[in-house]
Amino acid sequence: MKQILLIEDEAGISQMIKVQLKMFGFEVQTALDAQTALSIKNIEAVDAIILDWMLPDEEGPNLIPKLRQKTNAPILMLTARSEMVDKLMGFEAGADDYLTKPFDMMELIARIKALIRRSSHGVDGKEKTTITYKGLSLNLETRRVEIDGDEIELTPTEFTILEIMIKKPGVVFSRNKLIELVMGYEYEGYGRTLDSHIARLRSKLELDVKSPEYIITVFGIGYKLGK
Ligand code: CA
Repeated sequence: MKQILLIEDEAGISQMIKVQLKMFGFEVQTALDAQTALSIKNIEAVDAIILDWMLPDEEGPNLIPKLRQKTNAPILMLTARSEMVDKLMGFEAGADDYLTKPFDMMELIARIKALIRRSSHGVDGKEKTTITYKGLSLNLETRRVEIDGDEIELTPTEFTILEIMIKKPGVVFSRNKLIELVMGYEYEGYGRTLDSHIARLRSKLELDVKSPEYIITVFGIGYKLGK
């Protein structure tokens, strides 16, 4: 049974989401504020986190790095704000997906399933465990990433982007194609958020982000791995 941690302060909404998730076979733990969420015991067993933006004791984006210290579970952020700037901020804070309130429950379930699928199995199931490119190595089972033997921490979405690209070095991925591969579905208006994931990934991988060795921009088209 997949476990979801639901961090939402509005009891009515929390209850409604919980009931629906349980109907779809998920196990659900709820937290009504950030402190409760952080003190949940076996948080490392959680498969995905649903995080509301506005909590009484903390803003969702500020909570993300604290959650990341405890778990690598993918995070879907809920926001009542629809402004693009806020959505971008959510991604920059390391959320893996977001949904604007009010949302369709089936949409939420689909997003959660997609997040869990890509964080637990990678992009597709059976293949060799470790992929390397230059000094970079990705272990698809443990999801450990190293550069020249030093571990680097990636969010699930950053890992997925890198996994897709490292399997086909030199191949140019259009932004739309990457979005489709990463999200598992077409996603209108996601281009800039993809760019922000790429920027974060580069800041972790590259010695000099202005002259990247790994993730190369192909102007007007998208990205490729390596020159
Ligand atoms: Ca709230």
